[in-house]
Amino acid sequence: MVNDKQWQNNSDGWVTAMNKSKEKKQAKREQDYNTAHGICDHGDTEWCDTCAYDINGEQVAVKGIDYE
Ligand SMILES: [Zn+2]
Repeated sequence: MVNDKQWQNNSDGWVTAMNKSKEKKQAKREQDYNTAHGICDHGDTEWCDTCAYDINGEQVAVKGIDYE
């Protein structure tokens, strides 16, 4: 028979793991949303995968390199 204390510990660990997983999923979802909607969360002088491509899907910039 499993003792209550041990079950409680396992349960707490599971909840923590679930919450961590949920946070990760949420962060990923926000990032995907930003990417899908062309929203950047960096300064004007930086590039990311979102803004490095124009509406035709052509790469217009490489990280750390200006327009060619
Ligand atoms: Zn960007």
